[in-house]
Amino acid sequence: MRLRTLCLVIGLLVTGLALMAADQPKEEANRIPGFTAATSDSERGLEARLVDLLDPASTARHFRLLTEEPHPAGSDENLKLAHYVRDQFVAYGLEEVKLHRYDVLLPWPRKIAVTMVEPVEYTASLAEDAYPVDKDSYAVGASLTYLGMSASCDVTADVIYAHSGNPEDYDWLEAQGIDPRGKIAIVRYSNPYSYRGFKAWEAERRGVAALIIYSDPKDDGYRQGKVFPHGPWGPESHIQRGAITYDFIVPGDPLTPGWASIEGAKRIAPEEARSVPRIPAVPMSWRDAKPILEKLGGPVAPLDWQGALPMTYRVGPGPAKLHVEIDMDGETRPIWNVEGRIRGTEKPEELVILGNHRDAWVFGAVDPSSGTATQLEAARILGALAKKGERPRRTVVFANWDAEEWHLTGSTEWGEQFAAELGKGAVAYLNVDSSTAGPDFSIGAVASLNPTILEVARDVIDPNTRRSLLDAWSKTVSSAEGDASAPLIENELGSGSDYTVFLNFLGVPVASMGFDGPYGVYHSQYDDLYWMEHFGDPGYRYMTAMVEVWGRLGLRLANADVIPYDFRPYASTVGSFVDSLREVPGLEEELDLTAIAAAVDGWRQAAENLHQKTEEALTLEGETQAGTYADLNAALLKVERELLLEDGIPDRPWFKHALYAPRYTYAAMSLPGVREAAEAGNWDLARKQLGLLVERLAAAAKATERAAALVPVR
Ligand SMILES: [Zn+2]
Repeated sequence: MRLRTLCLVIGLLVTGLALMAADQPKEEANRIPGFTAATSDSERGLEARLVDLLDPASTARHFRLLTEEPHPAGSDENLKLAHYVRDQFVAYGLEEVKLHRYDVLLPWPRKIAVTMVEPVEYTASLAEDAYPVDKDSYAVGASLTYLGMSASCDVTADVIYAHSGNPEDYDWLEAQGIDPRGKIAIVRYSNPYSYRGFKAWEAERRGVAALIIYSDPKDDGYRQGKVFPHGPWGPESHIQRGAITYDFIVPGDPLTPGWASIEGAKRIAPEEARSVPRIPAVPMSWRDAKPILEKLGGPVAPLDWQGALPMTYRVGPGPAKLHVEIDMDGETRPIWNVEGRIRGTEKPEELVILGNHRDAWVFGAVDPSSGTATQLEAARILGALAKKGERPRRTVVFANWDAEEWHLTGSTEWGEQFAAELGKGAVAYLNVDSSTAGPDFSIGAVASLNPTILEVARDVIDPNTRRSLLDAWSKTVSSAEGDASAPLIENELGSGSDYTVFLNFLGVPVASMGFDGPYGVYHSQYDDLYWMEHFGDPGYRYMTAMVEVWGRLGLRLANADVIPYDFRPYASTVGSFVDSLREVPGLEEELDLTAIAAAVDGWRQAAENLHQKTEEALTLEGETQAGTYADLNAALLKVERELLLEDGIPDRPWFKHALYAPRYTYAAMSLPGVREAAEAGNWDLARKQLGLLVERLAAAAKATERAAALVPVR
């Protein structure tokens, strides 16, 4: 799973919140945010040495090894890769290198079969073709293609086509008198995009007997462009695997919701687990789906439900009738995170965490091995600098997660296990899931990190244009959005990757980034070495550029005199969240937004004051003494934590952040407590949540003021 799949599709829908392309940070005295002039110089020197150590050949070596075998969570191959990552971390001089084991619910399939029994007999292959040019495509063999956390079933029923499987699709069907209860629903992955677990959730709610999710060529196949092995889009037999866990309710091991699944941990029964789907579901290629769709009668589907197959899509029910058999083994399996650290010289307890997941659905070239190769390179280079005595002032933690693809599992369990240490000391969590699928940079982040991110992008050279990455990025965004003032940084954060536990459970500032491009083989066996070397990143230039972006960002946060949180853009972002809240029908009549507007304003003023005082202090000449800003930094760390709601958001207590939660689709939902209640018309709850939100914003403003009072004055 990955954030950017989402960003690409929903990017057009969300309002502009980050700094605008036209409103770049001003080039001011050559100082990096959070640094003095002198420490900026030494940081730039350090980063120049980082750049000298970049090596696409080394990135390629890691990448080729990582993508040699399919390595799903729970497999021997993925454990072998955990050992590889551990051994590299050790060789690179990282400290406290260890494996963390968790035993989590990870059922594998024993049998998956879909056959049409009426009006003709037909058996879906549920397999992907091999191509002579790509030897890896022969290596997958007879392994089953499935959706993680599907229920088991043995069901025979009429089929309906339910478009994307979103609520409005079922509403339309029901308006035509078509009852989805007891039927087998076949739905598309995209148009518009929603997380496959949401499709399962909605199907379960509607009483669907079994769900088939297929890849229509309109969404990621021939309608988009040339298909594999001639191009980057999905060929006729490609199958998008993936989990359907309801991790929008609670992520992590479903049997240990909110605590770590370490040895001896209490476990609930699977029947009690809220994130376990009760519906059987299976993924399919369009080639397998076509004979079924062709045998549907009933009304013609609406125009925007029509896909790119050469036929008129009808919705059924029947005459196509399917027999679906799914047998999942219900097993708990061990997963393995790898952790290594570069201990900080001045503030070892303050942590900058660089995280990536290792488990893949098959070879996982883009998702996630491009990120894993990037992480190993970042570890090699930061390790080499440390060996030469150029250690960061704060500790840099490299975290390599397992089972992200299932329920964001490894990161969630680790975050739950070390909540106390992280709550105290985590400065930021910087996520790279899929690092590279093309040349287009994208990043989502809490807005306090915006200035630092933009400064890093200014300093990195884009491999294609040889101009600054900031420049290339601005051009891509403004041409994609048709708007030169479109925001570069996505400041509305949903879910779908490993930053979730840090942001939503622990209140740690996060960023999640990668390079995107045309990519139609997501979670299929074709996301492999051949794809990457021919389409995604020939020459490993962008993967290597990501090492630089990630490394510089990590080092700036680890070395800054004053942790470069800028709460001014954060408060403005929250202001836009409040503005968009006003668009909820009936809200302005029901809720008084005066107090929240005042709270946002209060935070903005506190942020402005903090910024000015910090800038004054940092513009003073000379190297700073160790410890000068220790109290200020300790106070700064507390600001984001103040945004956590003690009881979480209504009905989803694990999601504690007052500003962000995922919708069930994974799309971002800002001010979730108020918004969700308001959208449901539950005004009493919305008022109560608004009160709590105002309290949290006031607390963040107070914490910002406390920090400002600790800025040393000379
Ligand atoms: Zn991923």
